[in-house]
Amino acid sequence: MTWSISNHDWTPDVLLNMESIFAQGNGYLGVRGNFEEGYAEGMSSIRGTYLNAYHDVIDVPYGEKLYAFPGTQQKLVNIMDAQTIHIYLEGEEAPVSLHAGKVLAYERHLHMDKGYSERMLHWQSPAGKEIKLTFRRVVSFVKRELFAIDVRIEPVNFTGKVKIVSTINGNVVNYTNPNDPRVAAGHAKRLTVADCGVQEEYGYVVDETMTSRLQAACVTRHQLDADAQASLQAESGVITYTAVFDLKETVHFTKWNVFTDTLRHGAELKNQAIVLHEALLGQSFTDVLNAQEQYLNHYWKRADIAIGNDDKLQEGIRFNLFHLLQSAGRDEHSNISAKGLTGEGYEGHYFWDTEIYMFPVFLMTQPEIARQLLIYRYSILDHARGRAIEMGHRRGALFPWRTISGTECSSFFPSGTAQYHISADIAYSYIQYYLAEQDNEFLLEYGAEMLIETARLWMEIGHYHDGAFHLDEVTGPDEYTCLVNNNYYTNVMAKHNLKWAAKSCEILKSHDASALGALYSRLGVSPQEIEDWKNAADTMLLPYDEKLGINPQDDTFLRKAVWDFENTPEEKYPLLLHYHPLTLYRYQVCKQADTVLAHFLLEDEQSMETIRRSYDYYEDITTHDSSLSSCIFSIMASKIGYSDKAYNYFNETARLDLDNTHGNTKDGLHLANMGGTWMAIVYGFAGMRLKENGLSLAPSIPATWEQYAFRLTFRGRLIAVHIEKGGVSLELLEGKSLEIALYDKPVQLEPGQTVKHPVS
Ligand code: BGC
Repeated sequence: MTWSISNHDWTPDVLLNMESIFAQGNGYLGVRGNFEEGYAEGMSSIRGTYLNAYHDVIDVPYGEKLYAFPGTQQKLVNIMDAQTIHIYLEGEEAPVSLHAGKVLAYERHLHMDKGYSERMLHWQSPAGKEIKLTFRRVVSFVKRELFAIDVRIEPVNFTGKVKIVSTINGNVVNYTNPNDPRVAAGHAKRLTVADCGVQEEYGYVVDETMTSRLQAACVTRHQLDADAQASLQAESGVITYTAVFDLKETVHFTKWNVFTDTLRHGAELKNQAIVLHEALLGQSFTDVLNAQEQYLNHYWKRADIAIGNDDKLQEGIRFNLFHLLQSAGRDEHSNISAKGLTGEGYEGHYFWDTEIYMFPVFLMTQPEIARQLLIYRYSILDHARGRAIEMGHRRGALFPWRTISGTECSSFFPSGTAQYHISADIAYSYIQYYLAEQDNEFLLEYGAEMLIETARLWMEIGHYHDGAFHLDEVTGPDEYTCLVNNNYYTNVMAKHNLKWAAKSCEILKSHDASALGALYSRLGVSPQEIEDWKNAADTMLLPYDEKLGINPQDDTFLRKAVWDFENTPEEKYPLLLHYHPLTLYRYQVCKQADTVLAHFLLEDEQSMETIRRSYDYYEDITTHDSSLSSCIFSIMASKIGYSDKAYNYFNETARLDLDNTHGNTKDGLHLANMGGTWMAIVYGFAGMRLKENGLSLAPSIPATWEQYAFRLTFRGRLIAVHIEKGGVSLELLEGKSLEIALYDKPVQLEPGQTVKHPVS
């Protein structure tokens, strides 16, 4: 049961959320879970199909546009709709619909172990004719361009003529909502139909974005296992397939849609789609499902977390892991957008969410995807260099706060561009990758350059004051406190970045000195510059308040008044929808984990006591209005030993979208939080850490759990971790023997042997 999300409800108010929840994707192509037959007139729906990174460029409207404000931004574009299928029964005017006739039975499942969705409908027409329909959909993990729908039509008390009308509609628009800053306010129509026609048994539509001039193509083949009178027509940007047949026994109808785009398939995108179709010709829908299941077997073997006695949570955990896999870009054009490929919230932009919240999951379960995510960032390094210059720096790389193709897409700089920490976050993920894989070649080819260029940014914005290195006028992760000096999070992450820029040079000196020399001359690195990084790191100011014994979030944070939480009614949350930013900036009120997050990422920078006191302090003033917060509080509560809190915060993450607790699941799922669920278990309850001295674990177990188990992929090993009240067991399933730390003591893992230890 916990391998499927099941649904027996189709009332209008749940449908919008269900479109996101039942979305299917493979990192390249994403399709929302809309109904093939559509909804009743007037019902709202966000009917969406997206290709990761396929975007248009739109103007950013400003009343006052100041220097270096981005003039344009990218926007993920909703592409042609190939979901639509109408089925008419003889003698009935209107097609099958949940909103006409009678629904005698309805169920819907998202099978996360098998990678397809299924919707069953027992329907009675207004005139009493009954049929059963089963819609199955798959977005293939194996052939990324393929989205196939199979419809099983079964007669119940009716035999006679059935007409199928299936369309591909190239005239689509994006969703907008001018009252929610998390959703696009305008620019609904971004596409025009460039070509639409019929070629042999294929119907095709090619759409083109208005400004970026990127094309997307959908080529569709219909397959019906009944004798039918069929036709295929192209008109005004719409392909219509019509088939009429006698329904006497069960019939299958399959719609094979192949999507391609200019970024991946070049100018010949339509022909490329036909070539891909031809390669698929011998395959049945069942073959596609089998390949899908095989792919997922491999994934779950490495990524599953089993918790045993709590089905609701188990379902949530698997759901989150499944959507992470569905959303992660696997090529140099793409990354993971804040909503994955499940909706249009945040316009398909990539944020720091990837590096800090999602990358760790892939790093420790699917390192090849993690590597690809890093390569995407490398592919936009030149844009980041350009942005640094534009922002008045002499050199370095300033990564955009939000982007698709590499340029800054944030128009509100206080909580956009000013979040310089994203450059350190990206550096952090490169360092984590190095610690996990120890891949010197990767460090040479990508990592060192990224670390050097990001380190340079800190040298540009930093300065010495009273012997300490200061970073002024930035915004940390907490978006309710903007434009501050010495944000603890930013400073400590920059320190790590600077230290590792120097360290990566040392590592490469012994790995390949001549290649390092070439890198130095290409980037103009001098020995003095490396000394400067080290010095800045060593003297970096990390604010500390003697009286409270905590790290203040920034230089002035603790001097501000504390927000009046007592007199803020429930309905005023999230605060960002009810208060002007300046009001929020004036108070001690945090949208999300900031210093607490820094204490997680770089825990060795402070004593346990400072970390605990800081946690207590910030917990009282954090609203968790961002979905990126609860998981971090859970991890840190585990570290400190607040086990009830750890569990309660974790509970907020595991089913956030399934239960729509943030109220905006309709705009897409909260991918960072989904990664956060995994982190709260693996870093939180199991106390995993990855540092220079290797991998370590310090497991605890929530009071209500009997056991939990997960696996880690680490330097070519697969390690099974099983924790129950009685003890921890570790088993090396693949790879050579390895030493890790368990509760700070070394343990040797040998192939085929299980190490057991009591839970401390
Ligand atoms: C959070 C950011 C996050 C963004 C996208 C905002 O609400 O404050 O930290 O990057 O959402 O998920």
